[in-house]
Amino acid sequence: MPIERPEQPVFRFAPSPNGRLHLGHALSAIVNHDMAAAMGGRFLVRIEDIDRTRCRPEFERAIFEDLTWLGLAWEEPIRRQSDHLDLYAAALERLKEMGLVYPSVMSRGEIKAMVAAAEVTGEPWPRDPDGSPLYPGRERELSQAAQAELSATGGAHAWRIDVAKAVARVGESLTWRETGAGPSGESELIAADPTVWGDVTLSRSDAPSSYHLSVVIDDALQGVTHVVRGRDLYHATSIHRLLQRLLDLPEPVYHHHRLVLGPDGRKLSKSNGDTGIAALRAAGHEPADIRAMLLCPEESKIPENARR
Ligand code: GLU
Repeated sequence: MPIERPEQPVFRFAPSPNGRLHLGHALSAIVNHDMAAAMGGRFLVRIEDIDRTRCRPEFERAIFEDLTWLGLAWEEPIRRQSDHLDLYAAALERLKEMGLVYPSVMSRGEIKAMVAAAEVTGEPWPRDPDGSPLYPGRERELSQAAQAELSATGGAHAWRIDVAKAVARVGESLTWRETGAGPSGESELIAADPTVWGDVTLSRSDAPSSYHLSVVIDDALQGVTHVVRGRDLYHATSIHRLLQRLLDLPEPVYHHHRLVLGPDGRKLSKSNGDTGIAALRAAGHEPADIRAMLLCPEESKIPENARR
């Protein structure tokens, strides 16, 4: 009888080089690295540099410097999203052929004005989990021919997924396996609801692929079995599961870890200078201090349900 080799777990830390790493990134990188080590898995680093206006090579160099200083080792060569734009474009084409995306032409300012006008009635406009208003445009209702015409002549536009149509096409409820605690302490099988995001953008004229589209393609192509990332991306998993199902991509296990909060109780941002890894290093801290600052004993333990 053939012996089935157990799948080797693959983890990835996927920073965007649009600033210096802070303690929140360090937690993510360390948890990924340590879970991979404990499970005999691989640890990858992926540079998510789709947004060319904000990403810079000096930030990418600094990421490697900070990760090395933290004592983490990853596989080479690393994957850089800007090297694979053709793959994301091909996936978008597939979704176009399925009739699940449409060109949208409203600018941010127009969206804001339309939402404000609608809210004059006193009814709040629906918002996504990050607090942005759902797209109010109606281009999805145009005929295929009118959409093609709009995409050819509409000037700057974004391609958005028609989320209701996409969910209907999938036809069955979507779930994901979560091994970290969700915002309200859920665990195990989580029901995904991609409609909470409205018709998210999958590509823009100034950014050829969105985070959502490129992340699911890369996770699949790199054979990522465990997506370990901060809880701020918990709800994004709903849209990722939808795209995975539409594009026939495998489903990883998800583990959303807690966020490191600043003294103001808010999530750290890249401008939180004193929680930056480089600033902590310059202030005389050692990598072991960073681990001690970040890891409570439960976090360095591998959840039993992460093994499969
Ligand atoms: N690139 C994303 C970030 O820097 C992380 C993406 C992910 O882990 O799925 O926030």
